[in-house]
Amino acid sequence: MINLILFGPPGSGKGTQAEKLKAHFNLLHISTGDLLRAEIAGGTQLGLAAKQFMDEGKLVPDEVVIGMLGGAVEEAKSKGKQGIIFDGFPRTSAQAQALDNMLLEKGTSVSCVLSLVVDEEELTQRILKRGLTSGRSDDNDVETIRKRVQEYRTKTEPVAGYYKNQDLLIEIEGVGTIDTIFDALMQAVNSVSSNHSDN
Ligand code: AMP
Repeated sequence: MINLILFGPPGSGKGTQAEKLKAHFNLLHISTGDLLRAEIAGGTQLGLAAKQFMDEGKLVPDEVVIGMLGGAVEEAKSKGKQGIIFDGFPRTSAQAQALDNMLLEKGTSVSCVLSLVVDEEELTQRILKRGLTSGRSDDNDVETIRKRVQEYRTKTEPVAGYYKNQDLLIEIEGVGTIDTIFDALMQAVNSVSSNHSDN
């Protein structure tokens, strides 16, 4: 399988690029943010619990998010996918460890971690612009955006080190046209998948 992680701060373009990568490499796209928003829309217990955190720009507790991903590998296989692209997950070291364990149990592993690099000022502007059309309340409020970036810096950024130690981290310039960035991501994946093998 090709299992990719799209890594980067809020507003770095993970969702946009995940859509393109999933189509190109025939991957199952797992966005934990989308899964959580679907739970909220469905009015489930999980959604209700997650909403409070999301509205404040805080990360949802690890056990909630990890619990949603148990069937990912089976789902990818049953749908005839080549692998999985994780978008917005893992966001903490505990999630990264849980993902490694989950993939190992299924005889597979993370192929590479694509880290989109975008500076802070650009991020805020992008998120506010997205907020005009996304219908996401967490995209409209400068204070919530600030909190999300802070959560990223304190809890998520250290996860990059976890993957760097495993030699899996690839940094990609996240400023430019969508197509230029996509080309750089494709090249990175191709260079990794050409010397990668598992079931
Ligand atoms: P996103 O759509 O990826 O920007 O996520 C929106 C919000 O959902 C985040 O600000 C968090 O509150 C929550 N969320 C999404 N993915 C995760 C995750 N892997 N761990 C914890 N919280 C998450």
